[in-house]
Amino acid sequence: MTLPISETDFDAVIIGAGMSGLYQLIRLRELGMRVRVFEAGGGVGGTWYWNRYPGARFDSESYSYGYSFSKELLAEWDWTEHFAPQPETLRYLEHVADRFDLRRDIQFDSRVRSAHWQEEGRFWRVALEDGTTATSRFLVTAIGPLSAPTLPRIDGIDSFNGESCHTARWPHEPVSFDGKRVAVIGTGATGVQTIQEVAKTAKQLTVFQRTPNWCAPLLNRKIDKEEMVRIRSTYPDIFRRCQETFACFLHTADPRGTFDVTPEEREAFFEKLYAEPGFGIWVGNFNDILTNREANAQISDFMARKIRQRVKDPAIAEKLIPRNHGFGTRRVPLETRYYEVYNQPNVELVDLTETPIERVIRSGIRTTARDYDLDMIIYATGFDALTGAFDRIDFRGVDGRRLKDDWSEGAETYVGMAVEGFPNMLMLLGPHTALGNIPRSIEYNVDWVTDLLRFMRDRELTRVEATGEGVEAWMEMVERASEGLLSNEVNSWFTGVNTNIDGRHNRRLSRYSGSAPSYRERCNAVAKEGYKEMLLS
Ligand SMILES: Cc1cc2nc3c(=O)[nH]c(=O)nc-3n(C[C@H](O)[C@H](O)[C@H](O)COP(=O)(O)OP(=O)(O)OC[C@H]3O[C@@H](n4cnc5c(N)ncnc54)[C@H](O)[C@@H]3O)c2cc1C
Repeated sequence: MTLPISETDFDAVIIGAGMSGLYQLIRLRELGMRVRVFEAGGGVGGTWYWNRYPGARFDSESYSYGYSFSKELLAEWDWTEHFAPQPETLRYLEHVADRFDLRRDIQFDSRVRSAHWQEEGRFWRVALEDGTTATSRFLVTAIGPLSAPTLPRIDGIDSFNGESCHTARWPHEPVSFDGKRVAVIGTGATGVQTIQEVAKTAKQLTVFQRTPNWCAPLLNRKIDKEEMVRIRSTYPDIFRRCQETFACFLHTADPRGTFDVTPEEREAFFEKLYAEPGFGIWVGNFNDILTNREANAQISDFMARKIRQRVKDPAIAEKLIPRNHGFGTRRVPLETRYYEVYNQPNVELVDLTETPIERVIRSGIRTTARDYDLDMIIYATGFDALTGAFDRIDFRGVDGRRLKDDWSEGAETYVGMAVEGFPNMLMLLGPHTALGNIPRSIEYNVDWVTDLLRFMRDRELTRVEATGEGVEAWMEMVERASEGLLSNEVNSWFTGVNTNIDGRHNRRLSRYSGSAPSYRERCNAVAKEGYKEMLLS
């Protein structure tokens, strides 16, 4: 028997108060729903609440990242940098929470431990880590694609006598590096941002690098009041463009192939992109650099030459040049004088492929070559991406089936937003949704979920579930979209590999790599046909 909606504690529970959860709360309130958001952190902002490490900032242009749904919000918020630093983005999301009076429906310091579907009654029972529970007809996960931090598999981490911290669990108080011997482990996007900042003041910085990445210049600039006025006047164009491009960025691939032009024209185009801010060199390059091996070799060779020009010691330059993947086949870190850091006398690069870490010891880090005495260890070792936050919650669906078991060989979803066997659970930025410049995908996902719930409310429907056939068809589309990508041949979070996690050593179909417009077209068709592909009752 379906429990009358008035007998559940809430109509909808949202897990997470990052960009996704905040916007979903606004939309569900508009439907007149009783909503509660449970957030593990002590404030709003998600990524921008947790990642307070030095140098944390956008790689998306600030004005293309902010919410687009409210004209008033666009009119009143000024971005002060083209790529805003974390404190500014956090202030922005706090402003959103205040402006739309969101905090009264958010319960902070409340980590969801489990969510169990109750078929009889058609509702979810959600339990927090402190043992309290709540019931809700619908469950919306807004738990983040990059929100479950992972430490490296190194023995002795707890034995270190000095300070240590993961970048995504950075303290709220200022941290000084003055006079300290600091280690950074990890050279992905976060590691690069951290290293270039810590190198400014640390007495000694030792970078422990397992895999070098191809880093490109960020070329950030301040935005003054006048420029902000100009940017504001172009918001409609900015957001229109983000709707049209492959990955919702302002940049999109050039219509030409790498070999459609002469070598001189090619070099000139690469130089132009290298001198422009943001992800243009990655997603606005020739249209075949991510699919054609020879084309990729051209841009990789160009980037390698740049590293050799910028790093004075040729032996260090060679260590910083990736050998196991081509440019753009892993997430490209954007940098500000990153390579020049290795010209400083206070910075040392340790190549872990030559001298692996044996263990963390009381005084620092022991590699196979020697001991490094340290005052602080910074773990810039990233996240259990895409599914990590799901695996950390005990989701049980129909007949008590566990989501973690169902996804043990890789996630299977319906348009990235629903899962067979888990009725009334809708996912924002779940595995297999379009990512790219993420807020554009967030707004789309939230609006799609809201439309579905409105459709159900208007017809007095109380249960929605993805079908096996729907999931199969969507997974085929995800697979087709990834065909031919060179990134499929590379271990990274794009291919679901994280050697710091058990059972995640093999590549899997972990993300949707097609275009955002095709993704939206598919989801729009589902809605237009009255969600016939889903089981509604
Ligand atoms: C350092 C960094 C830089 C980034 N830069 C960019 C960028 O430039 N451009 C871009 O497009 N994207 C960027 N991203 C991606 C970023 O995650 C998204 O842009 C966006 O912030 C995701 O919002 P979200 O609300 O979906 O998830 P999140 O911001 O991750 O929020 C999820 C929230 O859910 C909470 N949560 C998770 N599990 C539970 C639980 N069990 N119980 C209760 N609460 C829970 C978390 O505490 C968190 O607050 C970056 C990510 C990182 C880590």
